[in-house]
Amino acid sequence: MKELTGDYKRLVIKIGTSIIKETRLINSIIREVEALIKRGSEPLIVSSGAIASGMSLFDQKRRPNKISHLQALASIGQNRLINIYQAGFKRLKIKCAQILLTWDDFSDRKRYLNTKNTLEILLKWKALPIINENDTVSTNEIRFGDNDQLSAMVATLINADILIIITDVDGLLDENGRVLRVVEEVTTQIKRLAGRPRYPQAMGGMETKLLACERAMEAQIPCVIVNGRKRDILLSAIKKPEEAGTLFLPKKERLRARQLWLAHIGKQKGRIFVDQGAKAALLCGKSLLCVGVKATEGNFHCGDLVEVVDNNGKGFGRGKVNFSALQLEQLKGKRQLREAIHRDNLVVL
Ligand code: GLU
Repeated sequence: MKELTGDYKRLVIKIGTSIIKETRLINSIIREVEALIKRGSEPLIVSSGAIASGMSLFDQKRRPNKISHLQALASIGQNRLINIYQAGFKRLKIKCAQILLTWDDFSDRKRYLNTKNTLEILLKWKALPIINENDTVSTNEIRFGDNDQLSAMVATLINADILIIITDVDGLLDENGRVLRVVEEVTTQIKRLAGRPRYPQAMGGMETKLLACERAMEAQIPCVIVNGRKRDILLSAIKKPEEAGTLFLPKKERLRARQLWLAHIGKQKGRIFVDQGAKAALLCGKSLLCVGVKATEGNFHCGDLVEVVDNNGKGFGRGKVNFSALQLEQLKGKRQLREAIHRDNLVVL
């Protein structure tokens, strides 16, 4: 587990649309990032604001619903967004790298490792990765939809020391409006505290931030939600995250890199429903045999990632399937020793 020493080096900083929209705020964050780089930190920025920048260039007040319009706005706005960063970091001659990702880049393990390599090289060269969702090409199937998820995936990918989500509230507030300082587990009660998105241009609200925190916690990465309107917020976030905003503690048990990818990163293409016997076998670390498969859902192919679901409709595992949905429909329940998912390609949650 990453120790909470307050001395974090590799930082993923997620900057929301509300911050980008205010020049004064984004400039003060940029100055803080500069100071951190000088101190030897390795920041990566995940920045929203492409769609909002596109909207402001067209003087458009309402976010369109049509995905093609959002894509077109993002392609225009992304240019402006990156210019904001480039202009801001010019003083220290910091080189900004633009990286645009879709969920597919994480689902495909080869692309996942490729992205990781590129980011590692950029960090070695002391360049600053500025990452956003590739809105222009992302259709509903391969979208993250919000950059909170993307920031947690990036933090996992490059094994960050901390994920800092900058927004414009002080953290997660309890029923009385007080900031929760430390969250050990994202329970249903914690989820109830999350509201809906507050800005028409942005996608995420506290709900999506909590999902992102859960992902990071699972990957043993501490995560803190802070208010970008506060002075020296980044410095406080890495010195004393529990005082800067709401700190989400990392989980103690570590999943191995591949299991982590199977469990949280790759996008599942379908579901396999199994019987009680198969569930018991999987819980003991065995492979999933076709005989234990009761039904399938979705049009998956051999090698795709699927969720394994029990008798009560509860998903309890994810794995890479050895057959297409069509083939598995023929093989299900058959008393043969054919493996639908090999144990090495399976993670039980
Ligand atoms: N990728 C979108 C943008 O840059 C924003 C997604 C979000 O707000 O989380 O405009």
